[in-house]
Amino acid sequence: MSAAESFDVAVAGGGIVGCACALACAQRGFKVALVERDVLGSGATAAGMGHVVVMDDSEAQFALTRYSQELWRGLNLSAAAEYVQTGTLWIAADSEEMEGAEHKQVWYAERGVPCRLLTAREMTAAEPNLASGMAGGLLVPEDAVVYPPVAALELARRAEQLGARLIVGRTVKAIGDGRMALDDGTELRADRLIYALGADAAVLMPELPVRKRKGHLVITDRYPGFIQHQLVELGYLKSAHGSASDSVAFNVQPRPTGQLLIGSSRQYGAEEAGVDRQILSAMLARAALYMPALQNLNIIRVWTGFRAATPDKLPLIGPADGDDTLWLATGHEGLGITTSLGTAGLLACAFTGDRPAIAPEPYLPARFALAATSVSTTREEL
Ligand SMILES: Cc1cc2nc3c(=O)[nH]c(=O)nc-3n(C[C@H](O)[C@H](O)[C@H](O)COP(=O)(O)OP(=O)(O)OC[C@H]3O[C@@H](n4cnc5c(N)ncnc54)[C@H](O)[C@@H]3O)c2cc1C
Repeated sequence: MSAAESFDVAVAGGGIVGCACALACAQRGFKVALVERDVLGSGATAAGMGHVVVMDDSEAQFALTRYSQELWRGLNLSAAAEYVQTGTLWIAADSEEMEGAEHKQVWYAERGVPCRLLTAREMTAAEPNLASGMAGGLLVPEDAVVYPPVAALELARRAEQLGARLIVGRTVKAIGDGRMALDDGTELRADRLIYALGADAAVLMPELPVRKRKGHLVITDRYPGFIQHQLVELGYLKSAHGSASDSVAFNVQPRPTGQLLIGSSRQYGAEEAGVDRQILSAMLARAALYMPALQNLNIIRVWTGFRAATPDKLPLIGPADGDDTLWLATGHEGLGITTSLGTAGLLACAFTGDRPAIAPEPYLPARFALAATSVSTTREEL
């Protein structure tokens, strides 16, 4: 590579977000470079559960997840990416949560998302291994699961086929003003730089309101047919959207191999990658509460990963403050597999000037720059 090769778009970070951005830009005819320090899809992307899910925490979150889900459906990934429309079954443990399920059903139906309330009996018929005594549930059939690292690699390979340059094993040391400096002393120049370093976003840009939120996942041996849907307790929303430092929730996924992925945990302030036995025990105890038979299954591996969390639970997608060449694509927290494609779609439209499928404003990084000048507490909340 020459000392300063030029591109239309240079992407820093080859997680699912960076790979999706590289593909979306290559598809629009841009000359693209994608730089990853390790293996493509090896960061949070490899640690993630791969639940492609519509969420309703806010209108903005709904718009991005729904738009992204439609893009996932149209991708036609290879079988190796294990994209399967399992649907999500949201589980209501009691009558109060059932009211929440009913509210969710109305909200989704008003926005065109197919979904159906299940009585306790219907839910047991659908998932016999669930604990007895649950109040019922909400089935969202268009939700899906995918194997994230393979999907990321496939997006990058598609970009490569369209002419993108994949630069793997190189660390970005500095970025901005149309330049990206790599650890081997080379420099890339690009009209647009995309900053997609996931939970490491604050390393090169400490001013970004992104902090790490650790998660644990467990995978079992193969038990084909043990469950059919992605199963999530409705209380998950409290865990995901609350700001408690440690939380766990019942969240189990069937893999096409017959294995089960068991989650999930969320921790702020835990920056070591090692397994935290206490939180792992709490997570498994929660899982056993909803599905006692899980205790009889063999666990073959446990791992951790770091979500990139922002204070308002929405990602940073758009131009960085004070540098019109630098565009952010980070802060996707626990939804970055789902929302990677929507993120890429928004940025690619911003570059071409095409009208985006959804309004980009809620995700613009400028919302924090503005907040920082008007609300002095924002930084303290981080
Ligand atoms: C336990 C867990 C479960 C999850 N479950 C789900 C789920 O079910 N559904 C969902 O939608 N999301 C889920 N997520 C969230 C999802 O995994 C992330 O939001 C998503 O992977 C973020 O992708 P990314 O590309 O932004 O980050 P990453 O995948 O972390 O990619 C960033 C990349 O940048 C590279 N990098 C960093 N610094 C440099 C540098 N200086 N130079 C070059 N490269 C660099 C890293 O090596 C990494 O490959 C989960 C996350 C966790 C931790």
